[in-house]
Amino acid sequence: MQQDFQNDTIVALATPAGTGAIAVIRLSGPDSIRIVNKVFHGKNLEEQPSHTLHLGTINDGETLIDEVLVSLFIAPRSYTKEHSAEVSCHASPYIIDRLIRLFIREGARAAKPGEFTQRAFLNGQLDLSQAEAVADLIASTSGASHRVALQQLRGGISGKLQQLREQLIQFASLIELELDFSEEDVEFANREQLSSLVHQIRLELGRMISSFELGNAIKSGLPVVISGKPNAGKSTLLNALLNEERAIVSDIPGTTRDIIEDELVIGGIRFRFIDTAGIRETTDKIEAIGVERAYGKIKQSAIVLYLFDPREVSPVELGGILDEIRTHMAKPENLLAVANKIDLLESEKVRSDYSFAENLLLISAREQQNITILTDALLEKAQAARLDSDETIISNIRHIEALTRTDEALANALEMMEQLVSGELLAFEIRQALHYLGEITGSISNEDLLDSIFSKFCIGK
Ligand code: GDP
Repeated sequence: MQQDFQNDTIVALATPAGTGAIAVIRLSGPDSIRIVNKVFHGKNLEEQPSHTLHLGTINDGETLIDEVLVSLFIAPRSYTKEHSAEVSCHASPYIIDRLIRLFIREGARAAKPGEFTQRAFLNGQLDLSQAEAVADLIASTSGASHRVALQQLRGGISGKLQQLREQLIQFASLIELELDFSEEDVEFANREQLSSLVHQIRLELGRMISSFELGNAIKSGLPVVISGKPNAGKSTLLNALLNEERAIVSDIPGTTRDIIEDELVIGGIRFRFIDTAGIRETTDKIEAIGVERAYGKIKQSAIVLYLFDPREVSPVELGGILDEIRTHMAKPENLLAVANKIDLLESEKVRSDYSFAENLLLISAREQQNITILTDALLEKAQAARLDSDETIISNIRHIEALTRTDEALANALEMMEQLVSGELLAFEIRQALHYLGEITGSISNEDLLDSIFSKFCIGK
């Protein structure tokens, strides 16, 4: 099935649809160069070397359609490892449509979504996690998500998984060997060594699994909660950050009862700002719900900004509030205390009165003073979340599910070892673990899985 599907030649527009200066139509498959050559007027493309560029015209019978540039890639030196041609034409929807129809008439077939990348995978150019990284790379909207996708594309995850797989295979083979000799009651696999190996692998898996939180945050934005009493200036700050009048600003305490979210890319990192209701003792029912939700948001956030007006919050009170917030944070060191409205106050006095607060920043949201100091502090905290490290970051839900299943199988294996369960059951769990790991890179795959992955790509990718 896979064989004949790759025997044909596919064609699709590789650049966005619509009018532009130039469009690229891509063909891949055994006949791609022949098909283009049939309608190309210029050199004989079938006699040209790989990685060359040729100017000519494409005619439909007597009718000139466009002047084009054709790039040639001869198998296996192409993205798909098949013969490929890329035709750069003028990007008029009419020309594009005529050319694609012409190529189809000459023997090509319209490509399905992601089919070029699927062929690259089937021909061994990329493993599955790398193919998925192609989609992420195309979709990346910030420097950090670009970096994570690129790391995955370059095989960052694949290399790591390969190591784990090799360790597990070694482990499995010892167990299987033992099974072969079970009559003789020999133990090839030293149980203590085995369990320490499995522990080690699980540690590595745990690290990868917990990187998902960060990976996901990079894809969908690092959540930052802006907290503070009503009228502290939260909406004003959010607007200053976003440079837009999006949140409602008013003088009546408690107007920001609803949680507002907004996104902003700062220094290549996507932040998701969450403006919460003021956190304070309250008898007002609506506000009480707001306060509870605010703590929920704080739990899920990477960074919390506690914004306060020094005229309204005494040093003693601030100390209590910061302590309370920290108890709800996963990373208490990522709490920033931000004194607002310093345009009305004496900075030096505020600085000394509140000097006990770690990460104290002084700003004026309304006058836009020190906003860059604040964004720098945010970036620093985000980097502290190890964004720049070489550590493998998992950002794909399918991968995290497979890693979690691998880990579960290994946890079962460990338990069996402790309970001295028979080698057969142990071998089964290890094979399960290997199976799930293999699903990530596609060394174990099935058609449904491939279809579901590649159908999420756009046509032409
Ligand atoms: P929120 O309830 O925390 O969202 O507070 P708002 O952003 O609605 O601000 C409350 C009031 O404080 C508004 O009248 C703002 O104009 C004012 N305000 C906010 N930031 C500053 C500031 O830096 N300096 C001064 N003087 N006023 C500010």
